[in-house]
Amino acid sequence: MMIIMNTDANQKQVDQVMVKVKSLGFEPHVVYGEERTIIGVVGNNPYMTTRDQYARMPGVDRIMPISRPYKLSSREFIPEDSSFPLDGVDIGGPGIVIIAGPCAVEDRVLISEIAHAVKEAGAHALRGGCFKPRTSPYSFQGHGEKALKWMAEAREETGLPIVTEAMNEEQIKLVASYADVIQIGARNMQNYSLLHAAGASQHPVLLKRGMSSTVEELLMAAEYILSHDNRRVILCERGIRTFEKSTRNTTDINAIPVLKEKTHLPVVLDPSHATGNWNYVTAVARAGIAAGADGLIVEVHTEPENALSDGFQSLKPERFATMVRQIRTIAQAIDRDIAVSSHAAPEMK
Ligand code: PEP
Ligand code: MN
Repeated sequence: MMIIMNTDANQKQVDQVMVKVKSLGFEPHVVYGEERTIIGVVGNNPYMTTRDQYARMPGVDRIMPISRPYKLSSREFIPEDSSFPLDGVDIGGPGIVIIAGPCAVEDRVLISEIAHAVKEAGAHALRGGCFKPRTSPYSFQGHGEKALKWMAEAREETGLPIVTEAMNEEQIKLVASYADVIQIGARNMQNYSLLHAAGASQHPVLLKRGMSSTVEELLMAAEYILSHDNRRVILCERGIRTFEKSTRNTTDINAIPVLKEKTHLPVVLDPSHATGNWNYVTAVARAGIAAGADGLIVEVHTEPENALSDGFQSLKPERFATMVRQIRTIAQAIDRDIAVSSHAAPEMK
């Protein structure tokens, strides 16, 4: 439920309500809005059991239930879009953010080369898996911490913030010490101890939709992270399993406007895993932006034919550059644009 404070409520009154919430065994989550402060109370059914306790407290205007099962991620609780900076570029704002890089970080020289290439083409952040969740235990599993170091070097060289996956709870601390954003993969969307650890890290998280998960399950997974008051969560549609065999997954384009309606969190699309074929990546990326996504996460490789994973769905840098150009045009057609990083060099006149 939400405890909505009066427009002139002071901090002391907010603090008193928070103390009361805790004393009743619930967790308060405060949002300082432009007009008024709202305290979200989550836990098992707080509205039915405790709503009357706050009605006459100083500074309280009214108490309202949040009808959705997801609370902190819902637009009922936070009506405006949430946005936050990723090293100088806002995700969730009007600008489209593009994250690009290889499926896996394969070696130092290659990741540096790819980082420069995607930056040149207009990417705002570098992706690359250091710990890889693979369907087969015999496939390349990633270079681990060594690869995290190479990613950090690529960030040093290019200034691009880095996004990389943590596959289990134990990896969260290590990944957070190198990465700007911790990725939680589709296979781990309902790994609750991992979600708790990612929430507790207070680090930005990119949460991918499970391949057989509903939109509501994705939002419930996000709720685990938000329940730690870690609000820097990006949701990612990456295609779902259907009966259709012509592509690796089926892009649930519908999920984008559905998510944008239900949650204030930024939503990005991964057209690479959604299609599994580089030939379709640009078309689906365009569709995602037209549908309202706040960004893209795209696999790019300078030598996709030799990639150790997902080469078949990776764009070459030239094709990626074309994709970025087209995305800009689509963004402008819906009154948006590609995001501008505050680190970007001023354009030459
Ligand atoms: C990835 O981003 O490389 C990845 C493994 O994605 P997903 O978890 O969506 O399959
Ligand atoms: Mn991949």
